[in-house]
Order: sequence, then C-alpha cells, then structure tokens
Amino acid sequence: MAAEVLSAQGMHVKLYDSNPTVGRKFLLAGKGGLNITHNEPLEDFIGRYDQSDWLEPMIRAFDATMIRAWMTDLGVDSFVGTSGRVFPTEMKAAPLLRRWLSRLKQQGVVLHCRHTWQGFTESGALRFNTPTGEVIIMADATLLALGGGSWASLGSNGAWVTLLNEQGIRINPLLPSNCGFKISWSDFMIPHWGKPLKNIAGWVGNHKEAISSSEAVLTTYGIEGGLVYALSRPLREEIVQQGYATLHVDLLPHVTERELRLRLTSSSKQSLDNRWRKVGIEGVKGALIREKLPKKCWNDPVSVAMCIKNYPLILDGMQPIDEAISTSGGVMRASMNDDLMLHRLPNVFCAGEMLDWDAPTGGYLLSASFASGIFAAKGILKKLTLH
Ligand SMILES: Cc1cc2nc3c(=O)[nH]c(=O)nc-3n(C[C@H](O)[C@H](O)[C@H](O)COP(=O)(O)OP(=O)(O)OC[C@H]3O[C@@H](n4cnc5c(N)ncnc54)[C@H](O)[C@@H]3O)c2cc1C
Repeated sequence: MAAEVLSAQGMHVKLYDSNPTVGRKFLLAGKGGLNITHNEPLEDFIGRYDQSDWLEPMIRAFDATMIRAWMTDLGVDSFVGTSGRVFPTEMKAAPLLRRWLSRLKQQGVVLHCRHTWQGFTESGALRFNTPTGEVIIMADATLLALGGGSWASLGSNGAWVTLLNEQGIRINPLLPSNCGFKISWSDFMIPHWGKPLKNIAGWVGNHKEAISSSEAVLTTYGIEGGLVYALSRPLREEIVQQGYATLHVDLLPHVTERELRLRLTSSSKQSLDNRWRKVGIEGVKGALIREKLPKKCWNDPVSVAMCIKNYPLILDGMQPIDEAISTSGGVMRASMNDDLMLHRLPNVFCAGEMLDWDAPTGGYLLSASFASGIFAAKGILKKLTLH
C-alpha cells in the first residue's frame, strides 16, 4: 500500500522481502476467502481495535468503502457476507495480489526478493542478506512493514524485534492473538473433538465484554474459532496474570435462564435426552453439561439451566504464537510520531501488524495494515517534500 501511494507520487520505490515472492501471508488469508474488511458503521469498526484512538485517523483515511473502491479499481469485485464481512467475489487473494503487483510494476516499483533485512550500518544504511552476499542500501526514507510473529515460514518471524530493540526502540512483546486455547479435556469429551459448538455466546471476567451469536470448535488441544478469537485479548490477559483463564459460555443465548427452567420443569415426565433436546441441548452441548454437572443434578431444572447459561471453561494456555492468526504487541505508539516515524530513527517509518495494536478477525487486521501503510507513506511524502 505504501509503495503504491509513494510511486503514484513519482517517488522511486524499492520493495525488499526475505521471501522468494511477496504477499505469502496475504495469500494464506485468501484460503479462508480473504475477509478483507468489514461493512459495519465506522464508529463500531474503529471500536474493534484495542488502540482505537491511535488507529482512528488511519482508518478514517482508508475505510472499508475505500478498500472496496480500491479493489474495484483493480478490477476485483467484492461482496458483503451475512455477518457484514467483506470478501472478494472470487473468495481468493491471488487475482487481487497479481493485479496489485502489476500496478506497482507499472508505477515503477522495483521488487527485490530474497533480501533479508539485517539492521542498519553505523551510517544508517540498510543491511540485507541476499543469496549473493550482503547488500547495503542508503535510502532517503524507509518503511518497515515486517509483519507480526506468527506463521514464521511465511516470512513474518518477528526477528525485527531484536534489531529494533538494539536501536532503543520500545516494543511490547509479541504474543499470540486470534488463537486457539488449551483445555485439558477429560476422556469423556474425546468423541467430541472436531465438533462445532454453534450459536453460543461468551465473556471473560465480570466486565462482560460479551460476544453474542458466535461459535467455536472443540479440538484435540482445546478450543478454537470465532468466539475465542474475539475474546483472545481478555483471555490472554487472564492467562498472563494467573496462569489460566475462565471462558464463560452461554450455550443457549437466545433463551433466558428463567424460560429454560420453566421448559425443563414442564417436560419433567419425558426422558432426560428428550427434555434436553427440546430446549436445544444435544450432541456436544449435552456432553459438556454431563461432564460438568454431577449426575444427581441432571434432573434438576435449576442446576441445568444455570449450567447452560454460564458454562465455565478453564483454559490452561494459548496455542503457540506460530499458529496464531495474528500477534498482539509490537512497536509502541510512544516510539513513533503521529506520522508513524520512529523518534530514534528519523526517516524510518513502521506500519502493519508490527505496530502495537490488536483486533479480532473480521477483516480488521488487513484493514489496519492497509490503512497504516498508507498513513506512513503520507508521512514519508510529507517528510521528504518538506526538506
Ligand atoms: C491463517 C491466517 C488467515 C488470515 N486471514 C485474515 C483475514 O481473512 N482477514 C484479515 O484481515 N486478516 C487475516 N489474517 C491476518 C493478516 O494476514 C495479517 O494481519 C496481515 O498480512 C499483516 O500484514 P503486514 O503487511 O503487516 O505483514 P505480513 O503480511 O506478515 O508481511 C510481512 C512481510 O515482511 C517480510 N519480512 C519479515 N521480516 C523480514 C526481514 N527481516 N527482511 C525482509 N523481509 C521481511 C515477510 O517475508 C512478509 O512478506 C490472517 C492471518 C493468518 C495467519
């Protein structure tokens, strides 16, 4: 994005990447259909970010409507899914990336792949490792957009943290976000691994940062899916503080506890399975209740309703950072000026997931990466044209 903005203004842009080709994580995101942004009202959209006041001017300058217009301009149509998520009509990233790279080429951007940035020389030039040896580049301005620290095989390995730390730049540690969580399931739950828990709600702690109408999947290691991704920030905070987190799940969010008690009481002459099935508790939901509640309580409408409406799942840890969809942490806001230039390294800017912001899935990650890239590019233009 930054290369596009800068080259459109006649700047000579060189784009370096350690991989043999660019956009590998973007292509991986395409496997899930490429949820590129979200169609909700801008205020709600901005509220999804933990650092919303920092990101607000960036998102306002390149919001979901502008992302869709940019796609159309590249000849890629998009549509809004039922949940408000926006996808390219083809549900693929490759055609968009191909057209985007071709535009960059037309605008004179030169790509240098297999160039791994290794830090700076004493005079502030960029050092790259390449298959033919070290290459030193002196640039008028540099934008680092090196990604977070997950899926290292795709290039974003977080090695830049050490390089920037050496320059005295403050960085919040990279931690997994939008990730699965560990649960020590009992043997009783093994037949339910791989099964979805649909139409559930959840929250963490008593602040009730509740997520409604979501879903999750039981896995061999614990749990993954929309509900835990959306709550990964408070869950991570509890785990960091006390070593475990409690995820409170409402297994039937569309029925009140009182209504459930009444329905379970009125059908008391039927078999237990029938009674539970009629209120919507069967399969994996039924197994969870059976696992948690002592058998003597299974016929007690009060205990069952309570367990359905507030089912505590104890999470013992997070999945490894490399398996997370994104990472929290990164270059801190205090290390940069309002144009995303590092205070300690004049003319070096940062953008994308390597900045210290966090957001749930839903298109917010790519949106903020795009928007911060454009914002930093404008900062570069301002800096270079003022001097
Ligand atoms: C499985 C998966 C699915 C996802 N799906 C979605 C989705 O549907 N919607 C969404 O919004 N987000 C999604 N994301 C997240 C999204 O892909 C990222 O947030 C986004 O790609 C971040 O963009 P970025 O440019 O900051 O970093 P990246 O895309 O990670 O790019 C960083 C680049 O820097 C290069 N690099 C790193 N270090 C060096 C170095 N030292 N020298 C040279 N080059 C280096 C890397 O090779 C890489 O090409 C998904 C992520 C994953 C893992």
